[in-house]
Amino acid sequence: MKNTPRSNRFHIAIFGKRNSGKSSLINALTNQDIAIVSDVLGTTADPVFKTIEILPLGPCVLIDTAGLDDVGILGELRVSKSLSVLNKADIAIIVVDASTGIDRFDEEIIRKVKDKGLPGIIVAHKTDLANEIRVHSVDFKVVNVSSKTKEGIEKLKKELGKIAATEDKFEIVGDLIDPSDVVVLVTPIDSAAPKGRIILPQQQVLRDILDSDGIGLVTKEFELEKTLESLKNKPKMVITDSQAFGMVSKIVPEDIPLTSFSILFARHKGDLEELVRGAKSIDSLKDDDKVLIAEGCTHHRQADDIGTVKIPRWLTKSTGKSIIFDYYSGHGFPENIKDYQLIVHCGACMLNRKEVLHRINQAKEKEIPIVNYGVLIAYVHGIFERALDLFPNVKTIYEE
Ligand code: SF4
Repeated sequence: MKNTPRSNRFHIAIFGKRNSGKSSLINALTNQDIAIVSDVLGTTADPVFKTIEILPLGPCVLIDTAGLDDVGILGELRVSKSLSVLNKADIAIIVVDASTGIDRFDEEIIRKVKDKGLPGIIVAHKTDLANEIRVHSVDFKVVNVSSKTKEGIEKLKKELGKIAATEDKFEIVGDLIDPSDVVVLVTPIDSAAPKGRIILPQQQVLRDILDSDGIGLVTKEFELEKTLESLKNKPKMVITDSQAFGMVSKIVPEDIPLTSFSILFARHKGDLEELVRGAKSIDSLKDDDKVLIAEGCTHHRQADDIGTVKIPRWLTKSTGKSIIFDYYSGHGFPENIKDYQLIVHCGACMLNRKEVLHRINQAKEKEIPIVNYGVLIAYVHGIFERALDLFPNVKTIYEE
């Protein structure tokens, strides 16, 4: 469980006013002293992310946020950072002092959680100190909790578990295969491959195949022909690293479906339809148009880096236009996204689905086409049609 990537964990954001006891609630939920508990107002500054396993939920990320009633210029900044957590949360817990009840700060966050369409739970906290529980809500379920005596903690976990169980599950490949189907994975081991392991998306696809009782065969692109020859029956599909798609598509017979890890993840983590629309807009790029290359984290760059070297090279070559490229990595998008004619986003392996969808929606609201690396690679290399064969609904958008 410890190795579950953060992007795959259930994200629980904990909101409340300063000293409502958010940190002591986290410690009680996890049975550990992982959050600093203090009587000094505003101990939590920036949101703090803790990966943890909570039964019956499984692997989670608890997000401890700054007090919603924080004051001053810095306080306002901390509140706005706290609110940005809503873009990646799967559920919000709103912690309210049981004896004082819900006030305008709590009401405001309840409204924001509802506007986002997120499920929420209100914790009437510090019940050990309250003569009377004054927390009532028609919006979300209220659970009475004392982090000191642990009263209500198990109930809170149960309620979280119930909500987690109703969350939609977005499979990677499991819905495309049947038990005992053979799926061949092509993973180039070149100078860009990390030493001693295969990269996270490839590990996750393999795990999804095993979870679906399928049979996963992993091979390099140079061994693919022999791998296919060694099979008695045709595999259900071949999934390749996007960058080897050109070579792999020549080896895999037309009657065997072929797609890429990136296309699968574009569907699993985001909105494949919107990304396909974004890819189609590449053909409309003109000289001096601006393209934003956005990455989810700052990572070690290789000499032939995909974001800063390969994608600009491929886009320039395929459009024949003189395009201006800007680069941005980390949280969200820059303020000036309206200046761009296209956003090209990385594969977002470190981001959860909620955050990827939030970014796609930001682009949609501003009417800026957005595509990701994998979908763009398939498009500029002319292998889009084949890579989308497995997804007829999405292919229609491409053919419109
Ligand atoms: S795909 Fe994006 S989030 Fe993942 S390592 Fe690369 S830049 Fe970071």
